[in-house]
Amino acid sequence: MNNLNPNIKKLLKGIKTVNLTVDETADGIIKGDRNALSRAITKLESFIPEDQKFAEEVVKKCLPYSGNSRRIGITGVPGVGKSSFIDYFGEKLIDLGKKIAILAIDPSSSVSGGSILGDKTRMETLSSKMEAFIRPSPTAGTLGGVAAKTRESIILCEAAGFDTIIIETVGVGQSEIAVSSMVDVFMMLLVAGTGDELQGIKRGIMEMVDILVFTKDDGDNINRTKINKKQFEIALKMFPVKDSGWIPKVLSVSAHEKKGIEDIIKILDVFFEHITSNNYLIENRQNQSVRWLNDRITMLLKNSFYQNHRIAELLKTVEKDVVEKKISPITAANELFNEYLKSS
Ligand code: GDP
Repeated sequence: MNNLNPNIKKLLKGIKTVNLTVDETADGIIKGDRNALSRAITKLESFIPEDQKFAEEVVKKCLPYSGNSRRIGITGVPGVGKSSFIDYFGEKLIDLGKKIAILAIDPSSSVSGGSILGDKTRMETLSSKMEAFIRPSPTAGTLGGVAAKTRESIILCEAAGFDTIIIETVGVGQSEIAVSSMVDVFMMLLVAGTGDELQGIKRGIMEMVDILVFTKDDGDNINRTKINKKQFEIALKMFPVKDSGWIPKVLSVSAHEKKGIEDIIKILDVFFEHITSNNYLIENRQNQSVRWLNDRITMLLKNSFYQNHRIAELLKTVEKDVVEKKISPITAANELFNEYLKSS
C-alpha cells in the first residue's frame, strides 16, 4: 500500500467506480459506458455467489435492450489467421459505421490457465478503436460454464449498443457446437492446402458452416486457394440442406494484402437478408433461448445432485461397487437418483 502514489487515493475518490449498484451498472451499460460493461462482465465471470447474483440482475435489466445485433461465430485452428482476419474485418465494419464486440470461447484456457483468444494484443487496429470492445475468454471453468457466460455477455454488449457481436473460438469440436448455439451465422476459417479442411469435415463442423473463408490468399497460397475453393464449393453442396435454407458459400481473403473483405461483408448482408425474409433469424434465436433455458436447468440439477451431502457420501462406495461389478452402473445410477429425490 505504501508504494501507491498518494495522489491515486485522491483521484479515485472523485470517481465512483467500485460500488455501483445494479441499477447504476445497467443504466451505464445502456448508455454505452464501456467501464460499466467491463465491470458487469467481470462480475459475470466471477465465481463469488454475490457477484453472480449482481450480474444476473444486471443481465435481467439489460435483456429488453438486447437482440439488436448480428451475432457472428468465427472458428479456426490456432495460426489460421483469426485475429488478423477479425482485425481487418472489424476495421472495415467500423468504417461502415458499425460497433463491434469480440468475445471468445476458449476451453483450452481452462487447461493452460491463459487465454489465447480475444486477446487485445492480437488485434492491434481494433484495440485502439472506441467502436470496438474486445473481451478475452474467462481463464477458468468448463466449456459449459464459459459458454453460459458468453451468452450473457452477448446480451450486455448488445444493450451497450454493439451491433455486431463476434464470437471467436478455436477449432476443437465441442466449442464450435457451443458457439453455433448462440450465433446467427457461423464462419469457418481455413488455410488452403494444410489438411485442416479434412478434419473439419470429419468432426462434423462443416454441417454448421454458413460461410467458409480461406485465409492468407496471397503469395504462394493464391493457386492452392483457388483449387481448394472449387473443391469446397462442390463438397459443401453434398451436405443436406440446412434448416435456414442457406447454401454455404466459399470465399477467400488476405489480411496482409487487405483484399477480399468487401465480398465477405456483401455475402453476410445477403445471408442476413435471407434469414430475415424467411423468418429463420427469429425462429433460430427462439430455439437458442429454449436451449439456453434447458442447459441452465441441466446445470442446476447436476450441481444440486453432486453437491448433495448424502449423494457425495454414497457415491464413493457406489463407484467402488461398480468397478468391482457388484452392481451395474445403470442400477447404481437409478438407486442414487432415488436417494437424491428422497433427500432433497
Ligand atoms: P490466429 O492464431 O488464428 O489468431 O492467427 P493469427 O492472426 O495470429 O495469424 C497467424 C500467423 O499467420 C501470423 O504469423 C500472421 O502474420 C499470419 N497471417 C495472418 N493473416 C495472414 C495473411 O493474410 N497472409 C499471410 N501470408 N499470413 C497471414
